Amino acid sequence: MYPSIATVCLSGTLREKIECIARAGFKHIEIFENDLLAFDGSIREAGNLIRDHGLSVVTLQPFRDFEGLAGRDRQLAFDRANLKFEHMAELGTDLLMVCSSTHPRAEGGIAKLAEDFSELGQLAEKHNMRVAYEALAWGRHINDYRDSWEVVRRASHQRVGLVLDTFHIFSRGTDLDAIENIPGDKIFLVQTADAPGLSMDHLSWSRHYRCFPGQGELQIHTFMHALSKTGYEGPLSHEIFNDIFRRSAPLQTAEDGFRSSQFLASMLPQAHNEVPDSAPLNGFDFVEIACQQQHLEALQRLLVALGFTKAGQHRTMPAEHWQCGSVQFVLNSDEEFANRFLTLHGTSVVALGLKVDNSYACTKRARHMNIPLVEPDHVGAVHNMVGMQNVDGTVWYWVDESTSLHAFDNAFEPCNSNSLDKDAACIAQIDHVSLSQSYPDFLSTLLTFRSLFDLHKTPAFDVFDPQGLIQSQVVHNSDQSFQLAFNATDAQSTTSAKFIQRTRGSGVQHIALRTHDIFACAQSLTDAGIATLAIPANYYPDLQVRFGLGSTFCEKLQKHQILYDEDESGAFYQIYTLPIDGKFYFELVQRDGYRGLGAANAWLRAAAQQQSETISTTTNR
Ligand code: MG
Ligand code: MG
Repeated sequence: MYPSIATVCLSGTLREKIECIARAGFKHIEIFENDLLAFDGSIREAGNLIRDHGLSVVTLQPFRDFEGLAGRDRQLAFDRANLKFEHMAELGTDLLMVCSSTHPRAEGGIAKLAEDFSELGQLAEKHNMRVAYEALAWGRHINDYRDSWEVVRRASHQRVGLVLDTFHIFSRGTDLDAIENIPGDKIFLVQTADAPGLSMDHLSWSRHYRCFPGQGELQIHTFMHALSKTGYEGPLSHEIFNDIFRRSAPLQTAEDGFRSSQFLASMLPQAHNEVPDSAPLNGFDFVEIACQQQHLEALQRLLVALGFTKAGQHRTMPAEHWQCGSVQFVLNSDEEFANRFLTLHGTSVVALGLKVDNSYACTKRARHMNIPLVEPDHVGAVHNMVGMQNVDGTVWYWVDESTSLHAFDNAFEPCNSNSLDKDAACIAQIDHVSLSQSYPDFLSTLLTFRSLFDLHKTPAFDVFDPQGLIQSQVVHNSDQSFQLAFNATDAQSTTSAKFIQRTRGSGVQHIALRTHDIFACAQSLTDAGIATLAIPANYYPDLQVRFGLGSTFCEKLQKHQILYDEDESGAFYQIYTLPIDGKFYFELVQRDGYRGLGAANAWLRAAAQQQSETISTTTNR
């Protein structure tokens, strides 16, 4: 099996699409008929352009409304097929993809449809071409691959084969069991698409929400297992219709598509793939904040209040290493560095360390997934960590025990501060990291993380910001020591959108730090004179009756502006710090068995943040 992508996945003209698809690493391409008909040159010139880019065409598609017709309709369908076969010769492909008919005058009946395909097979043979039949989920008579296979089987012509399309199969919940009984050489094409779990008509779901495998919620790996049993050796060709892709930069989409192809290959049973295994991920190791001078003191005060001490000073640049137990921050206010990241984004998270079992295995997997790497030699670093450059510009290093020690030992001069009293430390670990991203960056980052690590994905949900909807999605490792929350929005004044505008791009919006004593943390902040996000007073009486909380306890929550939630496993507490420069902030959480990230309170946090901005702009006047 080998990767391919349909031109319909990308925005732009056919020329731009071909260029981006080739640059992303593909060798095979599916030509969508509209792209060809709108091309500003002859069909032969399109073929030459494709060949000049080192690409070969796996199919021309779609050939619609062919089967089940009679009389003049049927004759026109065969005339169209003749023309397409001529085009295909000029494009350099021998496969025409026929999708099941939605024609109002098309009739059903497996025997009749098989006859049509048998005759089409004869015509194809004259042109030295092949045809492949796809069951559209909304096909008029054929909408199930088991029926399209029966048509192909009965057509019994060597030039007629089957298309399997993951979207059409999964969107109707069709059983996969029959796939393994189809001979691999009768499957002429496999089209791959994922999708979010939505409840809507098949056509709208398909036209607007398909996404690359790894970005959605379909059980693609079960399909890949079934497919591996057929002996199929042809293309795995992405065919994605997606509103976001239609308006995104085509190169980023093509690169995501190629990564998704590599991810698909990793889903095949071990004997069928050569993809390096993903390295177990065990949580966050450190966070590096690019810090403008005017924000340094406030950040230092906050860290001190939370029990951090300055553990080291970088030997060559103005960067500080702060530590509380195993939680580590680097505050980097280097001017050189500032020119690259700080000037563009302002005070914001620039890099993170991920704890992995084996950083070498991680690098190998990332290379295979075509994830851009940041290697110490390239950046003249004194540490030996390798990481990946995410699409938003942040760098995520993988750190095993040896590299972590190496980095902080070599680069930082230890400070003779008071030894850490672990019991007194407020912060136990980094609980989760939350990103605010444009929709294209969200899809891209989601795919990168899922292709690199073995992660679980929770269903997407909507956060009701007072200024619009924010789509939220969480991925985590199996013991939830790594949790990453994604937020994306189209509404321009939501808290997430404002973050993206002010930071000039997608990035890390907040870091959540976990404590075992949220009240002690709150008191420390108060004692240090650090204000936290004011929570609307009406929240607390409602909370009290919702969970049957004691009034003294509830007053204590309100006094410290603590948000509270419960699930079946326990309680959850949250405090938010005020955003630095209206952008990045911290969350403090205590989880007593609770498993989520406080989704039930997300709308209130957004409302409180919007309100606090109004108050601060009013008082600043
Ligand atoms: Mg298809
Ligand atoms: Mg959070």
